[in-house]
Amino acid sequence: MVVGDDRSIVDERRRPTPAGGVAILDAITEVVHDLSASHDDVTVGVGIAGLVERRGVLLAAPNLAVTEAVDVRRGLKQRLGRDVAVDNDATCATLAEWRLGAATGVDDVVLVTLGTGIGGGLVTGGALQHGAHGFAGEFGHMVVDPDGPPCVCGRRGCWERYASGAGLAMLARHAAVEGRLDDVVARTGSIDALRGEDVRDAAVAGDEQAIAVVDAFARWVAIGLVNLTNVLDPAMFVLGGGLAATPDLYEPPIARWFDALLYSSEVRPAPRLAFATMGEQAAAVGAALLGAG
Ligand SMILES: [Zn+2]
Repeated sequence: MVVGDDRSIVDERRRPTPAGGVAILDAITEVVHDLSASHDDVTVGVGIAGLVERRGVLLAAPNLAVTEAVDVRRGLKQRLGRDVAVDNDATCATLAEWRLGAATGVDDVVLVTLGTGIGGGLVTGGALQHGAHGFAGEFGHMVVDPDGPPCVCGRRGCWERYASGAGLAMLARHAAVEGRLDDVVARTGSIDALRGEDVRDAAVAGDEQAIAVVDAFARWVAIGLVNLTNVLDPAMFVLGGGLAATPDLYEPPIARWFDALLYSSEVRPAPRLAFATMGEQAAAVGAALLGAG
């Protein structure tokens, strides 16, 4: 994606992510060459889903087919002959929402992206945070139930097993098995075919059983947000991912559970709950901002 000096998106290319570190670097190189051909004076930033060290090395990426560490910054410098900024994709998305989106002008912000898994990033005291090694913001792998379902990270009961899109689908299947989601299952044809979107659509249409599943999901979201509040005391949460498309459905139950679970909520100022406004392009826009320095 190319972001202009006025921070508008002026061009973009999309490629499927290939398997393997070298193939990913080659694909990025191709996209940069392609975009550089029609745009002058571009700087380059890259956001990647995984553990990205501060020196630009991708150490692990459970959601990409990468089995060993990849020195992304060095590999791209060799291929492109220029310096490239490299960071975690959710950290890039946080930068975009903070500079241009829902959290503009707010000094203490926590971004939580509830997608297939959960990504996140944080701004404290007016500065984007990385942690000592670059891995700050991996909120999805906070354990909320040590005996819970297995996670891609190899542990059990991580927050993202419950509060992500996949978590909503899991809660829906549990409800369906217990006969608490009959009308939705009648429409999808089987319990196995149930997706989070089916529950969302039914809840928006007023299906009481689907609304109850959304409420259970909202409780799990709030459990994590309360934990983060106890650690970070943010002024604002920005919630991104699929649920940002229907904020009216999710905001009331998340806010209610948040209020019920936060200690001393009756006396303390609560963080604002906002929804991401940059959409699925947030990470790419943030990477571009990163590249521009
Ligand atoms: Zn995990």
